[in-house]
Amino acid sequence: MQGLQRFQEGELMIVNEAVAIAEEISSNAYKMSSAEWRGRRYDIKTLADLTPDEVVHGPLAQIIRYVGRKAETSLSSSEYDFYKICLQDHTILSTLKKFPELRLLPFTLYIVTHELIHVIRFSKFLQAFDASAREKILEEARVHEKTQAVLRLAQIPDMGAVFDFYRAWQGPLDDLRDMA
Ligand SMILES: [Zn+2]
Repeated sequence: MQGLQRFQEGELMIVNEAVAIAEEISSNAYKMSSAEWRGRRYDIKTLADLTPDEVVHGPLAQIIRYVGRKAETSLSSSEYDFYKICLQDHTILSTLKKFPELRLLPFTLYIVTHELIHVIRFSKFLQAFDASAREKILEEARVHEKTQAVLRLAQIPDMGAVFDFYRAWQGPLDDLRDMA
């Protein structure tokens, strides 16, 4: 997106590292086999790979659900959900500037782990994507709780500041949207 601050090369390397750790931590947390994990249909993208529709102002990330269709047939039974985790570089970077005790690696590790836990719970039908507003708030609290539990076990350096940040600012920090 033009005009919005994006992750630079060095930052992207750190974000990639955070994504790799987040994938490992969250698949372990739900005891998923590697085949099961590879079968998850999701992608994680930064601002450079987002369409204007996928950019939001406020949340650090959002999950968009797309309905995929296998090319060879148009039967509705061949439809599948695909989740795109859209990291909002500009908001993550401005938050880091505002809260200098936050570090990019643990902060993005928290954000991505949180989003992956949402995706795992949707795809295991532990939670409906289009739940009521009240149910979404309850789910948000559950996902934060689970995120913190698994990250605490992983003992990531500088994660304490991230937990403090979420304790103080916890709210509608991400956003779920549907697109056909
Ligand atoms: Zn969430």
